[in-house]
Amino acid sequence: MGLYLCGATVQAPPHVGHIRSGVAFDVVRRWLSAQGYDVTFVRNVTDIDDKIIHNAGHDDVPYWVVAFKNERAFTQAYAALGCLAPTAEPRATGHIPEMIDMMQEIIDTNHGYAQAGDVYFDVRSDASYGSLSGQKIDDMLAASDAVAQGKRDPRDFAMWKAAKADEPHWETPWGPGRPGWHIECSAMARKYLGDSFDIHGGGIDLIFPHHENEIAQSRAAGDSFAQYWMHNAWVTTAGEKMSKSLGNSLLVSEVLKRIPPIHLRYYLAGSHYRSMLEFSDAAVQEAGIGFERVSGFITRAMEMLKLSTVEIDSDSRAEKFDAEMNNDFGVPKAIAVIHEVVRAANSKLAENDTEGVRAALVSVVSMLDVLGMNPLDVQWEQEQSSNQDVIGQLVQVAIDQRADARARKDFEAADAIRDELDRIGIALEDTKEGVRFSIRAPQSKESH
Ligand SMILES: [Zn+2]
Repeated sequence: MGLYLCGATVQAPPHVGHIRSGVAFDVVRRWLSAQGYDVTFVRNVTDIDDKIIHNAGHDDVPYWVVAFKNERAFTQAYAALGCLAPTAEPRATGHIPEMIDMMQEIIDTNHGYAQAGDVYFDVRSDASYGSLSGQKIDDMLAASDAVAQGKRDPRDFAMWKAAKADEPHWETPWGPGRPGWHIECSAMARKYLGDSFDIHGGGIDLIFPHHENEIAQSRAAGDSFAQYWMHNAWVTTAGEKMSKSLGNSLLVSEVLKRIPPIHLRYYLAGSHYRSMLEFSDAAVQEAGIGFERVSGFITRAMEMLKLSTVEIDSDSRAEKFDAEMNNDFGVPKAIAVIHEVVRAANSKLAENDTEGVRAALVSVVSMLDVLGMNPLDVQWEQEQSSNQDVIGQLVQVAIDQRADARARKDFEAADAIRDELDRIGIALEDTKEGVRFSIRAPQSKESH
């Protein structure tokens, strides 16, 4: 099965809004794999465009310094959030010959034309142009990707742009230039997935013009292209589409200093991919509390059963969970099923129903695992293990001091220690086996 996702334009490091599609389609890919499909997942890297060239000029470095640096930042962000690496992650600049071949085919079939070093797609030549976005050509605005002079129709879009002075460029039969954005996806999808493939994904803002133009190019070149389209909605802040202008605090690397990565994944993947998602630290923290209810059950169940690992068993997943996932990847409802199982299992814990707890534990871990949110997965351990020991020892010092205070009946001091830990995000729980602590994202003082 072929899955193509329009990936990052690597002009800047990713903020939370950039990373949502990566997380959403990682869940799609994992679910399809779990259904037995052999998924070839391609996510491209747009490593040449106006903004990359602009930013490179600003820093007085070659375009590829900007592109590689930000590509690495994206790779780190995807990895931190538990996204499996794509089967292929092709860069635009590595596929110029494929783009030239495709443009030649488009010109040969009279769907494209070269003009002063630019190569345009002739939208009037394509009767179905606009069908993905449900628009008629006459209602469309002019394509803003190139100057209108030399175009047959202002709505014709540039597949290739003639080189301007001092810009990076590649040689073509039509002169030196560089790719317009759309042609790379048509050329790379064909190269890695063939003339026809199953699913094409991307953000909802790519439907027009980008995906419309991809379809036009690929069909003009004789490919039947994607059979299904999936578009994820935006992440918003204060009701607006998240953008760079909102500052660095929304960069994934910054958010992950405040929020555990698995909480951010749970939050991003936990809403339906077609639903808008309003981001705030408070919203992620609230989601994190929900996630900790599930992971807290896993911890207690493993303690009760004296287990150090849990084997994944796909047959143990709740039927309802699978049904929700098979209904257009209904992750929110699938997660609600996990919570139902945990609620029921918590009573089994209280009743000391070992077999009931064991069955629920395997089921819960297996359901989380297929979503890429298994807290026992080495993915999440790596994130924390180096700090975890030190933190554990520090918290133990405080726990011992609290126990001493209690022993001398200084309850005020004991409570103060607990409150102070709570303030920095460490919750204590008195259990039969002793004091247990858990770490959540810290709360600001104002919230008290
Ligand atoms: Zn694309």
